[in-house]
Amino acid sequence: MKYVFGPVPSRRLGQSLGIDTIPLKTCNWNCVYCQLGRSVPLTNQRQEYYPREKILLEIRQALEAHTAGGIDWITFVGSGEPTLHSGLGWLIQEVKGLTDLPVAVITNGSTLYQQDVRSDLGAADAVLPTLDAGKPWLYQKINRPHPEITLERLLEGMRAFRDGYAGQLWVEVMLVCGLNDTEIALTDIAAALQTIQPDEIHLNLPTRPPAETWVRPTDDAGLLRAQAILGATARVVHPASGSFDVSGAADLNEAIVGILTRHPMREDELIRTLDESHQDVHQALSRLASSGRAQVVERYGVRFWGGPGTVFPDETHSQRTSPGSSRKSNRK
Ligand code: SF4
Repeated sequence: MKYVFGPVPSRRLGQSLGIDTIPLKTCNWNCVYCQLGRSVPLTNQRQEYYPREKILLEIRQALEAHTAGGIDWITFVGSGEPTLHSGLGWLIQEVKGLTDLPVAVITNGSTLYQQDVRSDLGAADAVLPTLDAGKPWLYQKINRPHPEITLERLLEGMRAFRDGYAGQLWVEVMLVCGLNDTEIALTDIAAALQTIQPDEIHLNLPTRPPAETWVRPTDDAGLLRAQAILGATARVVHPASGSFDVSGAADLNEAIVGILTRHPMREDELIRTLDESHQDVHQALSRLASSGRAQVVERYGVRFWGGPGTVFPDETHSQRTSPGSSRKSNRK
């Protein structure tokens, strides 16, 4: 499938069927922690990147292929900023007509200053935007936004959306060591969030391969500090563990590449998924590496597998690193 992937285990949304409406790294931010590498170039253009009817057809097929109970949420998320697809509102409405499953949109929130985006997201059950900084200089440093999206505009958009939105608004703060985990940075974020009044604040850590090699997640002290300063609605969302369900896929390798492209996996997760789908693990890893359909990125001393076409500085490609060198890749 081209537009639908998973279900994947999500830290907040259980088994989440992912809907990806845009080409890889179509984004108006270039976050230092992005697990999809760098955004080259940035765009803030809303348009119909892929035909909405084709996306809807795949969603319908995926819902038919998965057993009841296998999906907890349908989540618009993926290769960049999903609200840049101009048909998002139509797609959410159509999905609501197909199923009773709740619909979430994981967004950076940067387009909420536009009335049509706020209207599009109104039918979703949960919207999960991001706020990593309460001061413009830190916002520039972490999120590296398109010039049209100032921090003031971002905050205005979130406030306007909150005012008219009846669903759950869960704001994520990605805590990067030495940047936004200090007392002063967290106090600024708390002041900004006070004006938005989200239902929940989710503290997250860059545990998947970050775009920039120097990015580190905050430590335990930083997490405690964030919880203390951001208040009672702030909770840490731990990395999810669970299986990547590829059981409904007609082509298992294609399904796995579809997940890796949007959601890089630690090598041990990938091996477990291959094992559970009765693949020869060593052969499957070799095929992925040699075909160029996946690449290895090393961060924090951990091997991650991601999709092709992503831009990671100082990355370690699968072509340069044999999957046979993995501690577990010859397990079968
Ligand atoms: S983390 Fe999200 S918002 Fe940031 S650059 Fe990546 S896709 Fe864009």
